[in-house]
Amino acid sequence: MAEARARILIVGGGFGGLFTALDLAGAGQVTLVSPEDHFTFTPMLYEYMSGEVEAWHIAPHYKELLDDRVRNITGAVTDIDFGAREATVAGRVRRLAYDALVLAVGGVTNFWGVEGAERFTLPFRKIRHADELRWRMTDALDRIPPDAAPQDARAAATFAVVGAGASGVELSTKMADLLRDAFERRGLRGEPRVVVIEMSDRVVPGMDDDIRAVVERALNEARVEVHTSTRVVRVTADGLVFEHGGAETEVKAAAVVWTAGVRVNPLVERLALEKDRRGLVVAEPTLQARGREDVFVLGDIAALRDVEPTLAGTAQLAFQQSSLAARNVRAFLEGGELKTKRFAELGEAVSLGTENAAVLAGGQVVSGALARRARFALYTQRLPTWQHRLRVGSSWFFGGTKAWPLGL
Ligand SMILES: Cc1cc2nc3c(=O)[nH]c(=O)nc-3n(C[C@H](O)[C@H](O)[C@H](O)COP(=O)(O)OP(=O)(O)OC[C@H]3O[C@@H](n4cnc5c(N)ncnc54)[C@H](O)[C@@H]3O)c2cc1C
Repeated sequence: MAEARARILIVGGGFGGLFTALDLAGAGQVTLVSPEDHFTFTPMLYEYMSGEVEAWHIAPHYKELLDDRVRNITGAVTDIDFGAREATVAGRVRRLAYDALVLAVGGVTNFWGVEGAERFTLPFRKIRHADELRWRMTDALDRIPPDAAPQDARAAATFAVVGAGASGVELSTKMADLLRDAFERRGLRGEPRVVVIEMSDRVVPGMDDDIRAVVERALNEARVEVHTSTRVVRVTADGLVFEHGGAETEVKAAAVVWTAGVRVNPLVERLALEKDRRGLVVAEPTLQARGREDVFVLGDIAALRDVEPTLAGTAQLAFQQSSLAARNVRAFLEGGELKTKRFAELGEAVSLGTENAAVLAGGQVVSGALARRARFALYTQRLPTWQHRLRVGSSWFFGGTKAWPLGL
């Protein structure tokens, strides 16, 4: 048994932090600090945007997930004094003392210094970003007169997505399906336009070739306009300019969504911990920050040797690390032996529009409506707590998971 009064402070309530907190509940005085009052199951943020799932399914409140063995504080940690073993939380006078610290604050959108990107684009990481994007699509549609000429309707319903990684692909195919459905329902002539801009020479650059073939077909069927080997030069209030082969092109858009990169959380930049050249905290195989045996790091902020490159920066890695972090925090507090673990690839699943998906498991790619159902089944198992899984699983099974049309 761990020392009952040991103070365990967990900073960040995402995949790494929340699952560590759930595992450590009762192992001491466990406190979870996070700026929002809910967890976000990011792999299904696209389904939330399209109305296939509801906020309570994928963004349950911590108070629903955590019992009274974990104290939850809503706030952002702004500084950590490693010598005094205390963390400062914005707006709180009293600092939080700890005996063991778990840091899992994740990443933030990387705009790569592109002119106008931070000011004018929508990131896509939080529930509020999905709400804003849905609102922007509905608003653009509402401004199109019923008798608009096809080319005018198309111009008014043009949206750009920067980045054709899994995020950009999942988002653009959903947007294209939703917008086309709205055109049909409203009797608008012509069709909407969704443009994707990708710097590399291929879509989903980090993924397996088999799954890329399915993704390319889905983008084509959804009539998403893909520009590879293309760089965004600047973003403005009403669109963007991109460059391809030395020529610049302007695209007027009702919204530009930025999915083109993640950088380390600014809190991590400020902390006096050893970092690698990407700014990630160097972690020992036990997940202890190098040189700080009482500080454990995991998820998107941790640099670990011997992790498959395709696993880096994924929820599946943060999730797998959480059980090791919890185990080693216990061992550290008890003076026991700390362990290491090999993290496994759990397969890939991408949604492709509102009726389609692709799942790669055991070297096989499955696509279509069946893959979409498999993705829902898979993700039901990955949600936090069995009570939440049960509630959500029955809601999806009995209530269905059809997209909710824009504007309804
Ligand atoms: C739209 C989207 C879709 C994704 N889809 C997939 C997918 O399909 N499969 C997959 O494997 N991965 C996916 N990812 C990546 C995955 O979400 C991350 O790799 C994973 O969430 C990392 O876990 P984490 O705990 O490190 O960080 P996060 O889950 O991001 O959690 C960080 C937490 O820290 C909190 N925080 C931030 N700053 C502070 C602070 N100063 N003080 C206190 N708390 C703070 C944040 O609010 C958040 O709650 C997706 C990401 C996004 C954005």
